[in-house]
Amino acid sequence: MVNPVPGYGIGTPYGRRGSLWSLGWHTGADFPAPMHTHIVSCTPGTVVSVSNDRAYGHYVTIQWEGYRLLYCHMPSGAAVVTPGQTVSAGQLIGSVGDTGNVTGPHLHLEMRKSPYGFNANDIVNPQPAIDYDPQEDDVLTPAQDAALKELLDRNRSQDRVLVEIRDRVNAVWRGTERLAQLAPGLTGVANAGPFWPDVKAAIEKVLGRPISS
Ligand SMILES: [Zn+2]
Repeated sequence: MVNPVPGYGIGTPYGRRGSLWSLGWHTGADFPAPMHTHIVSCTPGTVVSVSNDRAYGHYVTIQWEGYRLLYCHMPSGAAVVTPGQTVSAGQLIGSVGDTGNVTGPHLHLEMRKSPYGFNANDIVNPQPAIDYDPQEDDVLTPAQDAALKELLDRNRSQDRVLVEIRDRVNAVWRGTERLAQLAPGLTGVANAGPFWPDVKAAIEKVLGRPISS
């Protein structure tokens, strides 16, 4: 699992009943922690939005498979990701704050299934996201795979080295973490060719973070 607030645990759990909450029950899991404690993404995914809301405060929404995860109550402007950005499990996305409807600083982590509304049908227990294990993420998501293939296909006829990279990525190194391990090796192989900046950009797009070159 990837703890979204490393070093801290769940206080108020998902599903607790009480008149404090507008639906009559707690719609997420709370992680109380000091102001500005780091918040990391539990899962890989794509940032849908960075928003401000009277109840949720400053919050980040991340699409993970068929779910959206809301990381709420950050200090204003504390999100360090932007819409459209790909994130990996464990990647820093912001920090703990007390914006919105709160009694003290904490992360409220909420998970919704399509169509992602604020109602009892769409809101689900976020525990599967908290339990997500990056080691089991052995394949790229379809979007990640398409992004990488598109770039490598475009250069396929231009450089034999890129063909080898494409084959290795497709056949052997399919996990995002393994791709990160592969990246330094690719630097050495492809640096001599004219296409390294393109390949590097593609890998960074897939990983959602910079790699050394
Ligand atoms: Zn909460």
